[in-house]
Amino acid sequence: MFVYMDHTATTPTSPEVLKVMMPYFSENFGNPSSVYSFSRKSRAAIEKARTQVANALNAEPSEIFFTGSGTEADNWALKGTLEKAKLNGKNHLITTQIEHHAILHTAEYLKKFEGVEVTYLPVNSEGFVKVEDVEAAITDKTALVSVMFANNEVGTIEPVKEIGALCRAKKIPFHTDAVQAAAHLDIDVKEMNIDMLSMSAHKMYGPKGVGALYLRKGLRPENFVHGGAQEKGRRASTENIAGIVGFGEAMEILKSRLKNDFAINSARRDKLISGILEKIPHSKLNGATGDKRLPNNINFSFIGVEGETLLLDLDTKGISASTGSACSSESLDPSHVLLALGLKHEQAHGSLRFTIGRLTTDEQIDYVLEVLPEIVARRRAMSPLWEDYLKSKGEL
Ligand code: PLP
Repeated sequence: MFVYMDHTATTPTSPEVLKVMMPYFSENFGNPSSVYSFSRKSRAAIEKARTQVANALNAEPSEIFFTGSGTEADNWALKGTLEKAKLNGKNHLITTQIEHHAILHTAEYLKKFEGVEVTYLPVNSEGFVKVEDVEAAITDKTALVSVMFANNEVGTIEPVKEIGALCRAKKIPFHTDAVQAAAHLDIDVKEMNIDMLSMSAHKMYGPKGVGALYLRKGLRPENFVHGGAQEKGRRASTENIAGIVGFGEAMEILKSRLKNDFAINSARRDKLISGILEKIPHSKLNGATGDKRLPNNINFSFIGVEGETLLLDLDTKGISASTGSACSSESLDPSHVLLALGLKHEQAHGSLRFTIGRLTTDEQIDYVLEVLPEIVARRRAMSPLWEDYLKSKGEL
């Protein structure tokens, strides 16, 4: 059986999406910036997609700017805002310890090359940022607060609306990385007091290599990609028309099935979580529970075993899972997110993430619940760490 349980890393482009994209590769290939009528088809397609994305967020089409990825949208929001703020003597960025590297490494860059002061807010053991901590960190030099909407490793959903309200009251722009959240949650940028929001199409059954930044009317961070006058002079590069068209379609479809998918995913997620807790002793669920957790995220630590080893064993059984962020899968460092949640190094190494989605079936959940306990038990039987753990508990 092939079981794909890594929907947070990426999703397949859905056939409906692919279908609307196809004509924009070799048929309607015109450059949208050209003046002749043939190219107007490309321009119109981009504007339709902009409206589709805007509608899904309760934003205005003029507030949506397409980018080359979620990472680029994050880079733009942070670098563009901090560079502009420098002109007004502001150089402080507030973010969190559990952001994706698209934010963390950008913050490090700003610190190193632009002299930006960065506050990394801590989180509690479930991964929640406290609104009071955001408030306490604000100074008269603060140029931007960036707190992710939902975490990609453990699925914790942050109190974005409340943080947004605080920032609005303090007149500080608020950015949120919603690359994961936008694929599962109903987001209303107006109601949630969001000034800037990053998204990515490939997390929501759209194509890879296209993202967007929502920029509330009136906000003008410095451009990130300099060049031509595309995207109203705010983001240069000849547009990835097929990608943008696919993004718009993917988002419209996503929105139409959001409620239903949420319910189905949540039920399967909870079945997998309770099955693992029941069948595998000394397993620990990482992150929050219930509606404060993304409906597709299951993240566990299994004391005494390395997550990487489990991944390889699962792969031999046809199951694709992850140890955390796809981007750090080549790194042997323990997850920065799990360490921020207070896990010890050995627990952070032993974590495993399953992320379910449209490819998931009930049979697959049962299959994982059948295969995983055997794998963990076998690996533990060979593990000196497990032996030490049992001894420390007086169980050996
Ligand atoms: N932000 C978060 C929270 C993510 O999970 C990811 C991808 O995993 C990104 C940003 C980067 O998005 P992209 O792959 O479109 O660059």
